[in-house]
Amino acid sequence: MRPYDVLPLGDPPSPGVRFGVRGLCDRLRCGGLAVRDVVVREALSLTARTARVQGKGPFDHLGLDPVLVRAVYAVGYEAPTPIQREAIPAILAGRDVIGTAQTGSGKTAAFLLPILQRLMRHGGSKTRALVLSPTRELAAQTEAALRQLAKGTHVRGHAVYGGVGMGPQEHALRTGVDVVVATPGRLLDHMGRRNVDFRGLEVLVLDEADRMLDMGFLPDVRRIVDGLPRDRQTLLFSATMPSEIEHLARSVMRNPVRISVSPPHRPPPKIRHEAFPVPQHLKTSLLVQLVGREDMMSVLVFVRTKRRADRVARQIGQAGFPVARIHGDRSQSQRQAALEGFRSGHHQVLVATDVAARGLDVEGISHVINYDVPSVPTDYVHRVGRTARMEAEGEAITLVTPEDESSLHSIEKILGHTIPRVTLPDFDYRAPPPPKERLPARAHRPPGRRGSGGERQYRGPPRR
Ligand code: AMP
Repeated sequence: MRPYDVLPLGDPPSPGVRFGVRGLCDRLRCGGLAVRDVVVREALSLTARTARVQGKGPFDHLGLDPVLVRAVYAVGYEAPTPIQREAIPAILAGRDVIGTAQTGSGKTAAFLLPILQRLMRHGGSKTRALVLSPTRELAAQTEAALRQLAKGTHVRGHAVYGGVGMGPQEHALRTGVDVVVATPGRLLDHMGRRNVDFRGLEVLVLDEADRMLDMGFLPDVRRIVDGLPRDRQTLLFSATMPSEIEHLARSVMRNPVRISVSPPHRPPPKIRHEAFPVPQHLKTSLLVQLVGREDMMSVLVFVRTKRRADRVARQIGQAGFPVARIHGDRSQSQRQAALEGFRSGHHQVLVATDVAARGLDVEGISHVINYDVPSVPTDYVHRVGRTARMEAEGEAITLVTPEDESSLHSIEKILGHTIPRVTLPDFDYRAPPPPKERLPARAHRPPGRRGSGGERQYRGPPRR
């Protein structure tokens, strides 16, 4: 069985299957067949739990300390993902590792678990591991994962990123927290103020290295690495391996083991891709119609600019859908609140720009909608990788104006197949451009979803 195959009934549970109340509820909402699926999977999960009690669980063969094995089961992981199976033993053996792994592959635990093992077995009072992340969201998520996996150990971690006060971070760094998870800019600030002592550093992780490159962080990363002890273990994870990252790896790593669990530039295989051709002026009304579909449980909408994120979110909200937005101009607490609302299901829709959504890890995103076609084809892969996380199924929808066709062809080239063009049966594709003046905003609920009433209509021209 390939690691990402759909499980026929009767096979052992696949690593990505989500159990628990939320997964169950999601499936119940999706129809009767899914319920049977859940019942069978829950039964299989019981078998897996029995095996674990007997010490034969799938995580018991990686060389991990029993305390950590217990922690992963407590988090709810059933079996290691491919990157975990490959990377954990190599990292435990002390090797430098380059992991080419897609977002959602389980790479965070793949590096955190062996780091925890090293830190819990040999004590120390200084900061011993550093994880560099491209975004605050990813840094916060990595710290949260560390906290979960470190239960039962004395290892402590702290995230250090911009947009929040320096004080608490300074305090944590000065007390010599074991693991620092940081974005490069803020860490350099702290290093400049001598808030952190890396003389005892043993492990460096460069997470989502290709994104750090895209965001222009490589010079910062090099400055940071120059300030670290040379005698250390270095781990680099990246969805793609552009030449700049190869070059970085060659200069900061020692004889690394290379692990690639999926072909680069390919999104998770269980995503259904669809393109909806639409004139530019009807994009928002088409989006609103799509979001109103019954299966749109949890929708991440990507737009090209921050202003557009504001506008599209406002228009979705005016159409009656609970919506949040994240982009680079929003404060850390606003981003955090938006993410939490989306995670908890309070907001059905999250509108985001590429940079803000990088590293975003939300379980059960049913749909990614590209309101704007990404101009860089690999951004398409990153965007749609937010759905179908951990082998679940998901749908990626792209709104395509006639001018976008050539960008879509480039995306199809890296996907290796064409994306089917789809039209929405009840949608008026010949509607004229809306009048220039804006209509007064009014809460509007599409029929058949939340509450009653209201026809779905375009609510005014985009504000430029
Ligand atoms: P990552 O690729 O590290 O961002 O992980 C994506 C998601 O997969 C996170 O929500 C993890 O908690 C989850 N995850 C990691 N390892 C496993 C596993 N072995 N089984 C199930 N879920 C996992």
